[in-house]
Amino acid sequence: MGRYLGPRCRLCRREGMKLFLKGERCYTDKCSFERRSYPPGQHGQAQVRAKMSDYGIRLREKQKVKRMYGLSEKQFRRYFDEADRLKGLTGTNLLVLLERRLDNVVYRLGFASSRRQARQLVRHGHILVNGRKVNIPSFLVKVGDVIEVREKSRQNPFVKESLEGVARRGVPQWLELDPDGFKGVIKALPVREDITLPIQEQLIVEFYSR
Ligand code: SF4
Repeated sequence: MGRYLGPRCRLCRREGMKLFLKGERCYTDKCSFERRSYPPGQHGQAQVRAKMSDYGIRLREKQKVKRMYGLSEKQFRRYFDEADRLKGLTGTNLLVLLERRLDNVVYRLGFASSRRQARQLVRHGHILVNGRKVNIPSFLVKVGDVIEVREKSRQNPFVKESLEGVARRGVPQWLELDPDGFKGVIKALPVREDITLPIQEQLIVEFYSR
């Protein structure tokens, strides 16, 4: 199955938490999850009271992370297999690989207000890595890489608006942002402590190890 193109707020409601998929709207009282925090669908409210199976708990954790990063099952599974091959804890490796995606870095640096918007910026050639255009959202950044918005795209209203919102979100420690230069540097690879999202990655490992 391909990437999900349906209503994004529905995903937050299904996962029972805000996934911040819609940029600035997520921080306002227009956020659907703020108004209806129970699962979508006719029996949504009944599901709040229902006990989830062990399988269900693990499935939901996997779906939550997959949806946060906007990936298809096939892409996500590929990251898991790669994380499993690497040294160290598979769950941590998985999160680090996901954080290193170029679309995520563009979002984290505040050039876009959501990962979906960041993906679009990358795809449309607005982003340079070490001075060269890279239009592959899954490109994995490495230490020392310089990520910048192309000169011609710096007046893009979405980019300017997102940079204004970055003060609220903050930039993770492993990145350094120069907002006036529309540029960021990868200071170090992220470690688990840098990923402050409420994720229990061990449950994802258990899901795929069934
Ligand atoms: Fe999720 Fe954002 Fe929609 Fe709120 S506005 S439900 S955080 S996507």
